[in-house]
Amino acid sequence: MNFRRELDPLRPYVPPKSWRMAAEGTDENNYAKLTSNELAFGPLPEAIEALTEVLPRANRYPDSHVSRLRQAVADANPGTDPGNVLVGNGSSEVLFNALQLLPPGGEIVFPWPSFSLYPTICAILSMTARPVPLDEGNGMDVEALLAAVGPETRAMIVCNPNNPSGTYLTLDEVRALADGLPDGVLLILDEAYVEFVDDPTYEGSHELALERENVLAARTFSKAHGLAGLRVGYGIASDPIADYAERVRFPVSVNLAAQVAATASMLAREKVRERARFVIGERKRLQDAFEGARLPFIPSQGNFIMVRFEAADFERVGVLVREGDALGYPGWSRVTVGDTWENDRVIGALS
Ligand SMILES: *Cc1c(COP(=O)(O)O)cnc(C)c1O
Repeated sequence: MNFRRELDPLRPYVPPKSWRMAAEGTDENNYAKLTSNELAFGPLPEAIEALTEVLPRANRYPDSHVSRLRQAVADANPGTDPGNVLVGNGSSEVLFNALQLLPPGGEIVFPWPSFSLYPTICAILSMTARPVPLDEGNGMDVEALLAAVGPETRAMIVCNPNNPSGTYLTLDEVRALADGLPDGVLLILDEAYVEFVDDPTYEGSHELALERENVLAARTFSKAHGLAGLRVGYGIASDPIADYAERVRFPVSVNLAAQVAATASMLAREKVRERARFVIGERKRLQDAFEGARLPFIPSQGNFIMVRFEAADFERVGVLVREGDALGYPGWSRVTVGDTWENDRVIGALS
């Protein structure tokens, strides 16, 4: 067999310890699972009710156009038409579909460290990853990002706020980035954590995607909506991007359960916002505790915090976190903001 050489360096995804324990059936009930930036709470009751109602009809294919979800996303983002909404099996698939629209080869620029999926998708699509280091304060460096753009650049992916650093670009900085990019370069804003940004001026980031033909905002139901297990994400973009994205999307990429739960959750978005406010408050409590313990940490706009504290030391007190070694921060841990008792346990580990 001959395999594509670009695939040689790829390795299967090594999931965090909490997933491995769940797969092995290990008793994990005694752990606070803060590895994967999931929400500590289950789906909203509205989503569970919608799921229960449709399950008996799971013998049928769902709406392949995903119309109700597109409408709910459009209604939640003023100025958006359902035709500007992309959907996918997680926002991972929305990102993948977006890169599939570009001419073959070329380079994809993104800050680094960031989401491990980006270099993986580049390899799968035979595109060259062009990581640009975060600055000394772990921030994304707009000038350095623009300086990395060359004639072969097809797209730039900016995870905002960035996983794992938690740092973010203000909307003005994102606009400056968009202004500095050639029209032919796609700017993908991966806004998986946008609901946890507490800077009010970031509101309305989707408008940039509607205004410009080369900007896509990708979002997910996996984090603030608490639906990671159902796999559904969306994007907002101009008509041409949305049109082309629909050409590469698999006909039934969003399953029945995902469609109805995500739609119900979006319609109940005020409750999602309330939960996000809880996370933001608990994020502050954790950061204050890290500060009190004189531990270096990176102030975060996500539902997670990078802190210089070993994952093994957290595990000793029953807290599972993402090892920083896997994320480009050896000796650090990425701690997801959990429920109150979980965060209490994190704070207890520090003394
Ligand atoms: C969690 C996360 C996502 C969400 O991926 P899904 O496929 O929607 O579950 C996307 N981007 C980043 C950076 C993430 O951390």
